[in-house]
Formats: sequence, structure tokens, C-alpha cells
Amino acid sequence: MNARANTPDQINADGSTAFHLKRACNGCGDLLGDLDDRDVDKCGNLADARAECPNCHPLVDLEAKGCRTWHLTRRDLGSIDDAIDQYGIYAKGYWEDIDGKLTVTGLRIGAGNDRVVAKFGDWIIRHPNGKWSTHPAPGTGAATP
Ligand SMILES: [Zn+2]
Repeated sequence: MNARANTPDQINADGSTAFHLKRACNGCGDLLGDLDDRDVDKCGNLADARAECPNCHPLVDLEAKGCRTWHLTRRDLGSIDDAIDQYGIYAKGYWEDIDGKLTVTGLRIGAGNDRVVAKFGDWIIRHPNGKWSTHPAPGTGAATP
């Protein structure tokens, strides 16, 4: 695949700004460069651009190897918790003290030393061998193995 152009905005003589529409990663929202024909399929659907994204391409590789992934958000906490329960794995909200108030900041998967904690914005990964790991939200640190 050709490298994506990333045309800078230009200020016109009349003071207006000319710009190219930008493509955001459908995994994390980071801008990837100029929008072009590769971003829409034959049916007009937005194409998956995560393979181009430095943050998200590891997830695309894991999915190709048979992993299942979920992007953990506050809105999706309940449905992801239910999906994990379907594997017979106990999951519940992960609580932390935020400014003196106990607050759910993510999801705890499993129990004991094998538990995995995903924070909101992280990706949760179920590997074909039944192991769980996380992929961090951009700029938040290292993933669990
Ligand atoms: Zn991304």
C-alpha cells in the first residue's frame, strides 16, 4: 500500500484556509493523513485503516492470528463484561480512588495472580490459547504480555 499523503493546511491570499480532509484511525482516532480512495469500499462503507496506525496495527496482527479484541470504553463495559463471562471467566469493574471517590476506571478480568486489568481506552485481547492480555490506549504505557 502506498504511503498516505499528509498535506498541510494552506492559508490563502484572502485569509481563508484550504485543507485536505484527514482520515482518523477507526481504532484509536489518531489522524493518519489525507483521506483518499482506499478509505471507502465499493459499497461506500468506511474501510478499516487500523493496519496503517502505529497504535493499532498490533491488534490487526493479533486478530489475524485468531485473537478476539475489544476496545474498552465506559459505554461498552457491560457488553464486554458479558462477552468475557461467556468464556467462563469472571470479570468485574476495576475500582480506584480518584480524588477521594471510588470510581470504576476499567475492567478486571479473572482472579488472583492471573488477573488482567484493562483501563478505559485500552484494548482487551483473548488469545486462542485462552490467555488474556491488554493493549494500552495510545500514550498510556506498556501492554500486559
Ligand atoms: Zn489507531
